[in-house]
Amino acid sequence: MKHKCCTKAENSVYFEGAVGGMDEDAISKIIKKETALLFTHVYKIKKNGYGHIHFQNSHDASLFNYSMSPNPIKIDDSQGVIRIKKSYKFGKNKEPIEYIPIEDLQL
Ligand SMILES: [Zn+2]
Repeated sequence: MKHKCCTKAENSVYFEGAVGGMDEDAISKIIKKETALLFTHVYKIKKNGYGHIHFQNSHDASLFNYSMSPNPIKIDDSQGVIRIKKSYKFGKNKEPIEYIPIEDLQL
């Protein structure tokens, strides 16, 4: 499943946690219960313990990162959590994305 958002690392955030074996729909449901902030879709390979959440633009990704990265998200029916982190830039240099500064976001 390819969307416009999938071509830009700055339109995404990274997540990791006790999510091995969970599919994209399951992750989407957990995130939607936790926040009303909008995202376009979750990108995750089922067996992996990590993935990405994609957004329409870098503003939405930045806002989500500031809002959701401080606190782990609890997973129902498990002791596990999902942690939101910065995505990394594409390519060889694995530098974290520089999100839009919080003072420049429309809150
Ligand atoms: Zn995408």
